[in-house]
Amino acid sequence: MSSQTNFVIPESSKFFWPLLEYKRISSYFGKRSSPTAYASSYHKGIDIPAPPGTNIYAAMSGIVVTAKFSGSGGCTITIQNGNIYTSYCHVSPNFIVSPGVYVEKGQLISQVGPKNVYGFPENKYRDNNGNPTNGATTGPHLHFAVRSGNDYLNPLDFF
Ligand SMILES: [Zn+2]
Repeated sequence: MSSQTNFVIPESSKFFWPLLEYKRISSYFGKRSSPTAYASSYHKGIDIPAPPGTNIYAAMSGIVVTAKFSGSGGCTITIQNGNIYTSYCHVSPNFIVSPGVYVEKGQLISQVGPKNVYGFPENKYRDNNGNPTNGATTGPHLHFAVRSGNDYLNPLDFF
């Protein structure tokens, strides 16, 4: 079941901060100098550093549409609510939600992933030692992105 249009944005349009105790942003939305090979110079989300294993909670309710390794985002979860998509990148490869599942705002959906992940043959990202990394990343953090259709929005506008 993957209804795409029958969801109503929740009463409160404000998002839930996805990492309870970690609020520092190491990289903001928008133009930046690229921190690592392949990482975009236009940053399509915000980066929140946190140790691997830190719980990640859904910023908004919706249907999980992605829970897999996904290119530069590494292990990625995407939640859809109408035309709004929230993505959580560089998360743990031990996915605890699956595509098609409905999650509530504030529900535990994942943990911050390790810098290195193994077992994804399509992963082209490597660190200086040649070990595969969790997408385009230099260390454990949550990359949180919001888009409307194909347009990326500043996540901080939603909190
Ligand atoms: Zn990022």
